[in-house]
Amino acid sequence: MNFNGIDILITAGPTREMWDTIRFLSNLSSGKTGLALAKTALTYGAEVTLISSIKSHNTGGVKFIYTPSGCQMFKAVKNEFPGCDIFISAAAVCDFRPVRINNKIKKSNGVPLIKLQRNPDILKWAGEDSGKKIIIGFSLEDELDIKLARSKKKDKNCNIIVLNTTKNLGADFKTFVIITDNGVEKYENLGLEKMAEIILGECWKIIQISINGDGVLLDEN
Ligand code: C5P
Repeated sequence: MNFNGIDILITAGPTREMWDTIRFLSNLSSGKTGLALAKTALTYGAEVTLISSIKSHNTGGVKFIYTPSGCQMFKAVKNEFPGCDIFISAAAVCDFRPVRINNKIKKSNGVPLIKLQRNPDILKWAGEDSGKKIIIGFSLEDELDIKLARSKKKDKNCNIIVLNTTKNLGADFKTFVIITDNGVEKYENLGLEKMAEIILGECWKIIQISINGDGVLLDEN
């Protein structure tokens, strides 16, 4: 696979949603899948932009943008999206963020009530006006629910959905299902690098169809 000249935008990591100046809500995502995708894409010759909530993801060769929260990540994606050919939304963006208080809440004032609000759905936004870009999303559920993942693929207008279970969180070996327009394939107990190779391999198949179909390599932007 040769991704020379192809720009891949990847989000990674669990977002951190502050509820006062020092406390936050987050989730158990390790960010390992997004990082593995970025590293593997580099070895294929891609230009990689990695937008992540994990500072140590700032690895050689990528354009790295640090965004701890979902809103910051959304802003960075909106900036970078026009220039990408492939968008891989591997970040575990918190679905909700607290209505933030701009000082440290004192415990002497009693137990605070934290009000939540919806975070922007970055992947859905990307799918709405994707043109010829390839859009890849993830679906994380307690069980491998293919029906739900299929409806997520349709709702968010993705070319590929990678279905994971919560057992995969932080694991170095993953069981996952890839859903494309052409079908469904299950993979068991594979290392992160192998998983990244398979996901990028599916992108490669779409790129080939794009080249053979109309001679235009992805988005001209
Ligand atoms: O709908 P659900 O959260 O299960 O979808 C998961 C996919 O959507 C992941 O690819 C994740 O990166 C993306 N997502 C997002 N913004 C959100 C929530 C999820 O981009 N607020």
